[in-house]
Amino acid sequence: MTEVVLTRSEEETEAAAADFARALPAGATVLLTGDLGAGKTAFVRGMAAGLGIDPGEVSSPTFTLIQEYRGSRALVHVDLYRVEGLEIADLGLDELGADGAVVAIEWAEKLPAPVPGATRVTLTDLGGDVREIKIAAGG
Ligand code: ADP
Ligand code: MG
Repeated sequence: MTEVVLTRSEEETEAAAADFARALPAGATVLLTGDLGAGKTAFVRGMAAGLGIDPGEVSSPTFTLIQEYRGSRALVHVDLYRVEGLEIADLGLDELGADGAVVAIEWAEKLPAPVPGATRVTLTDLGGDVREIKIAAGG
């Protein structure tokens, strides 16, 4: 099932992401794709809010590959922007959701293999502050 939403501000993206995250089961993996500045990190910030986590904790990881935030639920935030393909295999991404945390991965197109059951979120900058967010549920 694919859902498409248009947002007109960062706040709207965060609100859509919060609603989306509230419905996610424990251990869900969310693969985020979109150009630099498309809103992937903004979406993850909204997901954090939806999981009862302080959204202020979510930053664009510069040197940190994997960050974990805790609130009512746990969120693991991965940003593969600066990682090369071969290193990604060593990150142990398979185990990240094992304790029930939701796992959100930016630049997921760099993953060497598909993640079974993952939900794919694709963000596109349509100009100005308008973003298209396509959510394709895993299956
Ligand atoms: P990415 O992680 O994809 O590189 P960020 O979330 O870090 O992108 O940055 C998105 C940028 O776009 C921010 O500066 C944000 O304020 C701006 N922006 C403008 N409109 C929107 C929108 N509708 N949704 C999300 N971000 C938006
Ligand atoms: Mg980002």
